[in-house]
Amino acid sequence: MAPWLEQGRSAGFYARELLHELKINALPIDPIGIASALGLGVREQPLSSGCDGLLLCTGRVKGILVNQRVESQTRKRFTVAHEIGHFRIHQARDFSCQPQALLSWDERHPEAEANEFAAELMMPEQFFKGDAERLPSMPLLTELAESKYQTSLTSTGIRYTKLTDEPCAVTLADVNCVRWMVRSRRFPFRSKVSKLSENSYAWDFFQGRPLLHRPELVRADSWFADAPESEFVTEHSIGMPNLGVVFSLLTCQTQEEDDFDSER
Ligand SMILES: [Zn+2]
Repeated sequence: MAPWLEQGRSAGFYARELLHELKINALPIDPIGIASALGLGVREQPLSSGCDGLLLCTGRVKGILVNQRVESQTRKRFTVAHEIGHFRIHQARDFSCQPQALLSWDERHPEAEANEFAAELMMPEQFFKGDAERLPSMPLLTELAESKYQTSLTSTGIRYTKLTDEPCAVTLADVNCVRWMVRSRRFPFRSKVSKLSENSYAWDFFQGRPLLHRPELVRADSWFADAPESEFVTEHSIGMPNLGVVFSLLTCQTQEEDDFDSER
């Protein structure tokens, strides 16, 4: 258990508590308004490329700084929510958050806790559970991220995967390794490969080849160490050149669909 979280409480709990406290129940969530309700001003200014956001609590100036150089508005909004997470969970210390920190979902890390908080704050479960009943696709994740919740694609993908009953997984890879993978509860394979496979479509991105704008079948053992050779999954990958990573959605047929196919 991380030292900051109170016993029995997840990072998401802190976000739900805050939404309740501020009586917020409409979308899209306004993280700047929430910061302001907590006495934290939000300013955009040019920061170094190694920093997406800053939480300043201990000095004369208190508030959140967001890097003006970040082009994506949804990423900026997620960054503000992430800094609010540090403020609420990590006892208002100063934080300087790198772009990689905003992509960290290893549950025992303060950066991951701030991301978990931000995901719950920006995409409350009461709204998202209806969306999680829709079939998984990259266009759906993009639509939810850009329009409905106005947050980052990676965090939206993770939120969807954690709440859906559909068998799917989302993953982030760089040229060296598959950094993390989140699987839905009904996804059949559990063990991710550590190195990006040359058989994956994500690999093409790092070879300078254009990625396909649609899901394609790929051998399941390209992504999962415990998948038999005969199994396939679909992969839809999107390159994020600024961060040097590829975000992928992996889906597979459910058992019921397999049964249905074999009956036809
Ligand atoms: Zn952070």
